[in-house]
Amino acid sequence: MRLLLATRNPKKLAELRRILGGDGRFEVVGLSDVDSYPETRETGATFAENALAKARDGVAHTGLPTVADDSGLAVDALNGMPGVLSARWSGAGGDAAARDAAARDAANLELVLAQVADVPEQRLGARFVCAAALALPDGRSFVAEGTMPGRLVRSPRGAGGFGYDPIFVADGFTRTNAELAPEEKDAISHRGKALRALAEIIARELPTAG
Ligand code: IMP
Repeated sequence: MRLLLATRNPKKLAELRRILGGDGRFEVVGLSDVDSYPETRETGATFAENALAKARDGVAHTGLPTVADDSGLAVDALNGMPGVLSARWSGAGGDAAARDAAARDAANLELVLAQVADVPEQRLGARFVCAAALALPDGRSFVAEGTMPGRLVRSPRGAGGFGYDPIFVADGFTRTNAELAPEEKDAISHRGKALRALAEIIARELPTAG
């Protein structure tokens, strides 16, 4: 059975595939594998609203069961921002997969660091949040959420991951997310938690998922 993951971000797609597609029950396809359709506008006030909108759009345009996620960084000292605006915090619009995503990631990260420049060390708490949604051709939809609590560090470290990973250290770790092996990050990540919860829903709701 084909399952669409509604993302153009290759790193996210790889992360999603490791978690959802590893057992071979699904042929996991991304947006570049299906006929193109207009990008879903992320206008929701919550991660769940945005994830559901992307998943429902995927079904509407392809007829395939569709998984979509929406995620971001919530910084305590910034009242939970950048939040749903994480991908475009420094001003650029559109999907995180847009051209030159690395440059935008760097600009976003620098802006957050500037915004917490005066925040005392002990108040640098933050968390990543992910909502993962499944929309089915029969009209039903489901959503699962996961969080990864931790804190910000002022000096970016590491070459792995993406986005704000170089300035985030998860609770219980001293390395930044960008210094973790992909499997290490999956095991504790907001997206890993949300997708593992969604995988249980997929197994229950999609017959060939057994
Ligand atoms: P989305 O593509 O709309 O879900 O936006 C997610 C944005 O949040 C990304 O562009 C990153 O800036 C940030 N983000 C989400 N998950 C992670 C992560 O695991 N590591 C680092 N940054 C992340």
